[in-house]
Amino acid sequence: MFDLLLRRARLVDDRLTNIAIQDGKIAAVGEINAPADKTLELAGKHYVSAGWIDSHVHCYPNSPIYNDKPDSVGIATGVTTVVDAGSTGADDVDDFYTITRDAVTEVYALLNISRVGLITQNELANMANIDAAAVRDAVKRYPDFIVGLKARMSSSVVGDNGITPLERAKAMQQQNGDLPLMVHIGNNPPNLDEIAERLSAGDIITHCYNGKPNRILTPSGELRASVTRAIARGVRLDVGHGSASFSFAVAQQAIAAGILPHTISSDIYCRNRIHGPVYSLAKVMSKFLAIGMSLPQVIACVTDHAAEGLCLRRKGRLAPGFDADLTIFDLRRQPVLFTDAENDSLQADQLLTPLAAIRAGKGYMTEQGSAEHAFDL
Ligand code: ZN
Ligand code: ZN
Repeated sequence: MFDLLLRRARLVDDRLTNIAIQDGKIAAVGEINAPADKTLELAGKHYVSAGWIDSHVHCYPNSPIYNDKPDSVGIATGVTTVVDAGSTGADDVDDFYTITRDAVTEVYALLNISRVGLITQNELANMANIDAAAVRDAVKRYPDFIVGLKARMSSSVVGDNGITPLERAKAMQQQNGDLPLMVHIGNNPPNLDEIAERLSAGDIITHCYNGKPNRILTPSGELRASVTRAIARGVRLDVGHGSASFSFAVAQQAIAAGILPHTISSDIYCRNRIHGPVYSLAKVMSKFLAIGMSLPQVIACVTDHAAEGLCLRRKGRLAPGFDADLTIFDLRRQPVLFTDAENDSLQADQLLTPLAAIRAGKGYMTEQGSAEHAFDL
């Protein structure tokens, strides 16, 4: 007897399957004959994937500049796991951890290498805030919560410190078991070449398709040689759309040249969720469908790629033994006008629409799903 059975779920490759859930884990996938306490008949009408993982959000409610509630950027929009990208450093991570234990959404943190985190826009302008002992102690306190480190390497953040904060971040990464390091790129200095040259396998460049002059493409539209070499070494590209860090033109050029993102993430927080241009992870994912990625490619970027990049070993796949985190969604044919962070727009004809999510075996409706009374969960 299973707890929950999803019948005739459509996978992104259009096969239909059944998925059984027990004790918060996926128990079986495929032909299933045993009964369940509850059965959800999807009749091939709705897609199911592993639960969506947003690799870059800001959901520390007490941050004075980039705050939100974990469930507002998570389960309410069909996202079962969010990774907060550096809202807190060592000073506030205890508070952040405590607050997020009440969330339905699974929350992880990339610890800001600055102990003050995002209480200010220039958290790396004062080198005294980069405290290796404080980072080490925080990582030790929360080994299952802190999944990596975050360094924001743009001029407004680092002030006069240039590339030095990144060198400190790489040293701290080594001191803490080679945790993934996510690096934000933006306006120079430091120059992107200086950043890319210092990154190694598993490091993550976020805001990878930003439209600022310090972007991944040269003025003639080719991938910078330093970024080509970094990708060849195993450096990963993360979207991190945000309010100011995503350009359709850059993404279209890069993707046409075969430079796909490893992960699609939103960089969402309350303001760009409510007023745009982000709105939700689903909208960001839909933009990538509009610029030429396939549905299986887009879903992989928020499931197995995201889990792999951040070493979330029980997540990202629809297979027995994995966490029972699933997203139920439609791909709806409808006209939709998207806007990037450069205020350029793109007319598209389909929209990913999350209707419900299963998190640790329990069902929750999204805002859209409950408005439409999509399921009885
Ligand atoms: Zn950023
Ligand atoms: Zn961010």
